[in-house]
Formats: sequence, C-alpha cells, structure tokens
Amino acid sequence: MIRLRAVAVIIFFAISMPYGSSAQEQLPVFDEMVILAPLPLTHDVYSIKKNSSVHEALIEAGVDSRIIYQIVKTARPKFDLRHIQPGTRFVIAKEHDGSLRRISFDISPLTRLEVNYSHKEWTSEIVEIETTKQLVHYSGTITDSLWNSAIVQKLSPEVITDFAEVFGWQLDFNREVRKGDTWKFTVEKLFAEGRSVGWGNIVYAQYQNGPEFYKAYFYKNKATGTQGYFDETGASLRKVFLKSPIKFGRITSRFSRRRFHPIHRRFKAHNGVDYGAPRGTPIRAVGDGRIIKIGRYGGSGKMIVLDHVAGYRTKYLHMSRFKKGMRRGSKVLQGEIIGYVGATGYATGPHLHFEMSKHRRLMDPLKVNLPASSPVPETALAHFKSHVASINRNIASIDRPARSKKICCESVRSKSIHSTGQ
Ligand SMILES: [Zn+2]
Repeated sequence: MIRLRAVAVIIFFAISMPYGSSAQEQLPVFDEMVILAPLPLTHDVYSIKKNSSVHEALIEAGVDSRIIYQIVKTARPKFDLRHIQPGTRFVIAKEHDGSLRRISFDISPLTRLEVNYSHKEWTSEIVEIETTKQLVHYSGTITDSLWNSAIVQKLSPEVITDFAEVFGWQLDFNREVRKGDTWKFTVEKLFAEGRSVGWGNIVYAQYQNGPEFYKAYFYKNKATGTQGYFDETGASLRKVFLKSPIKFGRITSRFSRRRFHPIHRRFKAHNGVDYGAPRGTPIRAVGDGRIIKIGRYGGSGKMIVLDHVAGYRTKYLHMSRFKKGMRRGSKVLQGEIIGYVGATGYATGPHLHFEMSKHRRLMDPLKVNLPASSPVPETALAHFKSHVASINRNIASIDRPARSKKICCESVRSKSIHSTGQ
C-alpha cells in the first residue's frame, strides 16, 4: 500500500490570450466553444476524426473536392497533409458569400499551417503560435519513489523525467531515494491561445536527501554560451558520468569480488552492477564516448562497450536490442540512448549488467567520484548571481503561505515563414 503526501500549487492562473495573427480576424477559441468575431469572415472549427483522411474530413466540412486537391498541393512544400494526425483541429474561414478564404490546421501545439486563397492565388505558410510562459511550482514528499510521489500530482511523465535528469549527476533515483525526502521545482508551463501546450525548462529544482540538500538553477547566457544547471555558487551540476545508465529501475546486484552466481551455481566475482528493469527500458550512455564494441558476445549477450576520456570504459550487457544507428566507431553523448534492457546471453531475467573500468582495471560504478564540468565563467558570474537572487526571491514568495503571486510571464514573439503557392 502506497501512501503519498504531496502538494501542488499552481500560481497565476490569469494569463494573456493572444488570438490569431491579425486583429481584424480574431478567433477566440476555448476548447470546443467558438465565439465568432463580429467581423467579415466566418470561422468554423472542425477536427480530423479517427481513421479519417484530410480529404474525408474536408469533404465532410463541405469543401469541394477540387479545392481540397489545391489545398493539399499548396500545403505540400510546408507540410504533407496526408500525414495529418487524428484529432487535429482545423478552422475554415469563409467570406460572407460563402467563398473559402483560409483553412488553418493546428499541426502541432505550437505551429499552425495556414492555406490561404486570396486574389485568385493559393499560398501556404507555417505560423508559430505565440506562447506565454507561466512558472508553476510543484513539491512533494517521498514515501516510496520519486515517480509515485510525482505522478499522484498528475505531473506529466515528461516533467518528472526532466526533474530526475536535473539531479542525474548528484542522485541515483534508483537507489538513493529515501522515505521522507522532499523535492520541489519550478517549471515553465507553456500556453498558446489560452490552451496549455506543454512544458519549457525547469528553472529551479531542489531535493533534500537525508542530510544532503541539492539546489539547481537553470542558467543560460548567450554571450558566453553557458547553459545548464548550476548550484548557487555557479558550479556545474554536470559530471563526466551520470550516476546511472537506467533512469528508473532498481539495483538487483552490486559490484563485489565474490558472490554466489545463480547460473554458474558457484561463488564468482560480480564485476559490475545489475539493474532490474522491464524489457525495453532505455539504456543511456553514462558519459560522452565512442562505441568500441557492439554485437552479441556469448554469455554477455548483446553488448556495447564505450571508450571515454581518461582511460575510462563502460560496458552494457544483455540488451534486447541496440538503438538504431549505433555501430562501431559511433560517437555517443552523455545520456544518449544506446540500447534497451533485455535478457540475452546468460541472464535469469531482463536486466542490465553495467561495468566500469579505468585503464582496464575494474571499478565499482557506484563508488566512482568524478570532477564536475565547467562552472559559470568568471565573466558571467555577476549576471548569474543576480539571476539566482531573483529566483530565490520568487521561491521565497511562493513559500510564504496564503499568497499567490504572479512570478513571471514572458512572451515569445510569433514568427512566420512565408511561401507562395503554386
Ligand atoms: Zn551482472
């Protein structure tokens, strides 16, 4: 039985809602409700039904077959309407005499395809929908796992994963999480035309793990090219190696010089760490490196060996399959998925056997301590400090009870890419 205690506070509900790109053709839309602007064009909102093609959807919306052909053709250099997803919302704008003026398709939460007919000419363009960001704050207490304490707040898996990634160098969420640990973070929630369309950066995060207290500030400085998570002093949270090649799994066997082997039925050293995880769980490269071995190797099953800096080498065994495109000599980045958990070779069940060595000497991956990546450069330090101070003020204002407050709002200008039709 899992009992969870967690609090979610959403601050600043009221947001600005920019509609459409042109002032005289406003189209305020709140979910399914449509309010027609008292202006020349009429707007009708539809959506692509399941198992329905764009052609079928447009026919049903009363568009002539010949015009549909023209629309699809005009759109093609920008977007292939034959690949439109079910559920896509589209709006047909007509003149008062009923003639078609424009069809726009919400092809992604942040982009819209507009096909226009004007002066007897068809044109198409991709319009980026203007977004506003709101900072939203979440916090919780762990009773069994980070995942469960976050999912109970209806947090999207994407955001939970991002949060775990922020501390991916400090904490192994598979084994170091303790009951009673507390977490907190502030994330950008993106809105377009009044609808929530996804998540931006986690701008601040903290995690209290027993006596350890970690803080992370997202910082981006265009002038110095610095971007990433730093502590309050400007030290990078990023290390040469991630703490674990598996994001969410559990350690089933540790590194040891001597242990009872379930298949060989004798005492044998265990040269790495085993992570039990369902078949297909993604396996990440723990550091930047190069593939020096990839293939099936007897009892090791499907295996990848990576070469890293300073003579470090990591091995990943028993995979069910490799990530597409991985081959000998391929360069991989820290955190990049290289393959998936399986039970190939000698394995009693799906797990990842993970090994680390330095100059061919085996080491316990759970005990390696490595230097951090570059800190915020000297020239940006003053700017970074003021950024931290402003975030800290915001966090303090959230922590003050019974007061909700607007803590930010930033607007991204809309851009459009024009093209002439054919
Ligand atoms: Zn093992």
